[in-house]
Amino acid sequence: MEQRVIETLKILTESDKEACDLVKVSENEPVRGSGKRLFIESYGCQMNFSDSEIVASVMREAGFTTTSTEQDADLIFLNTCAIRDNAEQKVRNRLQHLNALKKKKPGMLIGVLGCMAERLKAKFLEEEKMVDIVTGPDAYRDLPRLVEEAETGQKGVNVFLSREETYADISPIRLNSNGITAFISIMRGCDNMCSFCVVPYTRGRERSRDPFSIVQEARDLFANGYREVTLLGQNVDSYKWTAPAGAESTLAAPVTFAQLLEKVALVSPDLRVRFSTSHPKDITDEVLYTMKKYDNICKYIHLPAQSGNSRVLQLMNRTYDRPWYLQKIDRIRAILGEDCGISHDMIAGFCTETEAEHQDTLSLMEYARYDYGYMFAYSERPGTPAAKKLVDDVPEAVKKRRLQEIIALQQKLSLERNQRAVGRVHKVLVESTSKRSDDDLQGRNDQNKVVVFPRENFQKGQYVHVLVTECTAATLIGKAVELEAVS
Ligand code: SF4
Repeated sequence: MEQRVIETLKILTESDKEACDLVKVSENEPVRGSGKRLFIESYGCQMNFSDSEIVASVMREAGFTTTSTEQDADLIFLNTCAIRDNAEQKVRNRLQHLNALKKKKPGMLIGVLGCMAERLKAKFLEEEKMVDIVTGPDAYRDLPRLVEEAETGQKGVNVFLSREETYADISPIRLNSNGITAFISIMRGCDNMCSFCVVPYTRGRERSRDPFSIVQEARDLFANGYREVTLLGQNVDSYKWTAPAGAESTLAAPVTFAQLLEKVALVSPDLRVRFSTSHPKDITDEVLYTMKKYDNICKYIHLPAQSGNSRVLQLMNRTYDRPWYLQKIDRIRAILGEDCGISHDMIAGFCTETEAEHQDTLSLMEYARYDYGYMFAYSERPGTPAAKKLVDDVPEAVKKRRLQEIIALQQKLSLERNQRAVGRVHKVLVESTSKRSDDDLQGRNDQNKVVVFPRENFQKGQYVHVLVTECTAATLIGKAVELEAVS
């Protein structure tokens, strides 16, 4: 749930939600091997997009190359997300469309992967006969076998959730990549039981990937021209890897997240390191001091609050209260300084939330002075503790109004925070041409803020010092400068 990374979208308004439903599709690779083509359409969070890269890698071993055109595909996977509103209906609509395509191309196979696999397998497979393969997030190694089974006319099903699977040894095939920034999955699943969240049920128990394969992946990415990695997990601060009993390992003691962060930071000073998502109950001073120690660990923390009121936080089973959260903000500011970027997730109108409790959310936001936020009106998810035990009793109109108040406040805070950046020089990693003009480039600074500046002769993947001269709530605008020329 906390991995809602929609690259340039920071504030989720109603219309933005539509943009969230944008999907990522696989890229066109040159045909190899058996000549069979795979089309993957991925929905939802960054974790899901990363999983699709693992799926592409597993299927390449089985002779499939990816295509960006569904009509060319022999095999189509929808990698689903259970978090979005109406997700089920959207996947059903897509399956109807793909089944029409299949009528024209009878050998084509259709599979549903990801978070919705377990819950919908009976419906999609048996009742509606819309898919040939259903695979849960921990069973992607089994896909070649399941595809073979489906090729013989059987149904290929594996929704088993594992306590060990981390896909550590699988080198993901980067899909939709800008060639500069990449995500490295460091753990899977979640052991927290936030009452509104489906992740513990759809992605299983928490497990940490071994640090050697993580560092190696970072090294390989750097060697291939990548300049930024984001270490990804539902709750990165609870990362803890212990060498299996009897294994030959130089690491006798468990590796913590702070230690992993350091190992990745040491790959190269020119490799930026980010991470997401932190849980307020788990983030430690050790992590904050590690961030401070290394210039290439970006000073930006995504620290979901979900509410500013202790009673609501308890109902959400977040396991921290308002004073605890505020104290974490204080520690971040004390150790990393006022400029450290902080973003949040916030839910408006959770079960039984009163007007005064909503005001607590607004005052917490003022206190934290967030740079961005991912903001939602509460919407019940089937099967969660909140759906089973709590009453979703805040009227929709009230939820919407509270959400609008949260969004309006965040826009004010984002603008204020961006104004602090004006008149200063920022080190920007160039990621692409600006969305607005081919004459401009865009990248991000340390605090994860988008910076736009004239292209001149700069290239993607370069670090450029940019003097910021103006800003909006979403973007910093400036001009490249010689660092020596600036006092
Ligand atoms: S259970 Fe809580 S911590 Fe875990 S993914 Fe869901 S919201 Fe995040």
